[in-house]
Amino acid sequence: MIKANNSELKSWIEVPENSDFPIQNIPFGVAKSGKQVFVASRIGDTVINLHKLAKLGYFDVDSDVFKSYKLNKFIKLGKSFTRQVRDEISAIFSHENAANKENDGIKSALHTISEVEMLMPVRVGDYTDFYSSEQHAYNVGCMFRDPNNALLPNWKHIPVGYHGRSSSIVVSGTPIHRPKGQQKPNNNEPPVFGPCKLLDFELEMAFVTYNGKALGQSISTKEADDYIFGMCIFNDWSARDIQKWEYVPLGPFLAKNFASSISPWIVTLDALEPFRVSGPVQEPKVFDYLQYEGNKHIDINLEVAIQPENTKEKVVSNSNYKYMYWNMNQQLAHHTVNGCNIKAGDMMASGTISGNDESAYGSMLEISWKGSKSVAMTDGSERKFILDNDTVIMRGFAQKNGVRVGFGEVRTKVLPTV
Ligand code: CA
Repeated sequence: MIKANNSELKSWIEVPENSDFPIQNIPFGVAKSGKQVFVASRIGDTVINLHKLAKLGYFDVDSDVFKSYKLNKFIKLGKSFTRQVRDEISAIFSHENAANKENDGIKSALHTISEVEMLMPVRVGDYTDFYSSEQHAYNVGCMFRDPNNALLPNWKHIPVGYHGRSSSIVVSGTPIHRPKGQQKPNNNEPPVFGPCKLLDFELEMAFVTYNGKALGQSISTKEADDYIFGMCIFNDWSARDIQKWEYVPLGPFLAKNFASSISPWIVTLDALEPFRVSGPVQEPKVFDYLQYEGNKHIDINLEVAIQPENTKEKVVSNSNYKYMYWNMNQQLAHHTVNGCNIKAGDMMASGTISGNDESAYGSMLEISWKGSKSVAMTDGSERKFILDNDTVIMRGFAQKNGVRVGFGEVRTKVLPTV
C-alpha cells in the first residue's frame, strides 16, 4: 500500500473542486519564481518548493537534488526514494498535520500557481514513440492502404515504435512555428518545398523512466513498473504532407522532429496505481517476453481542444489511455529485450490514442478522415488540420472513488512559418 494514495486523506491546503491536484496526486515538476528555479510539487493551486523543504531538513537527502533545472537528479535516486519523498510531502500537507499551516519555514515554500512559470521538467535523454493504439493504426491503415489489411502483419506481434528526437520536446506554453519542408501533393508532379499545409496533433501519453539495467540486459514486463517514474500528456506534432513524402523506407523524420509538447507535471506511476484496468485480449497470443500479469492498463480520460485566436476553444476529441493495445510494461519489455539500455529521464510516448468511436479519434488526420470532412470551431470557421495562430490544448485525468488525479494541460500555440 502506497501511503500517499490513501483516498481518505485531505490537505490543509485548499483544493478547488475538480482540481487535478488533490493531496493524492503529488506530481513533480520544475518551477520558476522570480530568479529561483526549483523542483516542485503541487496541491490544488499551490506550488510547493521542495528545495526549501529539503533545506528545512525534510527528505533525508542533499538539498541540491531539488535545486535544479530538471528532475533528472531526483529521478536517478530511484523508485524507493521518489516514493518516500511523495509520502513525506503527503504527510507534511495532510490535515493530520494541520499545525504545519502556521510553520513559517513551510509557509515560505508555498507559491500560488499564477506566480510561477512551469519549466521543462525533464532533460530527456532518449525519446521513443510507440504506435500502440489499435484503432489509430487501423484508421491509418484504412486511409493509406486497404481496410481489409489495415494492420500490417507485424502489428499484433510487436509493439511497433521508432526512435524520435528529444531536443525539440518543449513544455506547455511554448509556442511552435509551422514547419517547412518537402512535400509531394501531386503524384504525377515533382515535389515542392514550403510551409507544411497539413499540420496535425497526435494525442499521446508519455512515460519517464528511471535508470535501467546495464547494456545487454532486459527489463521484463513484471519488472517494468519499477523502472517507470511517471507520466505526462504528450502532443506529437506531425506534418502530414512532409510525412507522406519522406516516410518510406525508414519512417517519420522531419515530419515529427520539429516539436513535441508535454504537460509540465510528471504524475508518478505510484499515484496512478488506483486507476489500473485490464487491457484487451491479445490474439494472436504474444511471445512469452510480452506476456504480463495483472491490470497494467490505466483509465485516464483525455480530451483535445482547438482554440482559434480570439475565440473560445472547441473540444474535438474525447479519448482514454485505456484504449491502448500494448501497455507500458510490454513497451518497455520490448524496448529492452535486445539488451538496449534505458536511462533516468528517457521518455517513451504511447502513439496516438484513438478510441473506437469517431468522437475519440486522437488526430485531425482521423477526425477529418484525411481531410475529407471538417470540424466547426466556435467562431464558425472550419478545420481539417491546424491553422496558424490556433492553440491546441490537451487535458487528462483519472477518477475513481471520489479521487481525481490529473495532469493539468499541455497548451501550444502554432505560429506561422519562420
Ligand atoms: Ca506519434
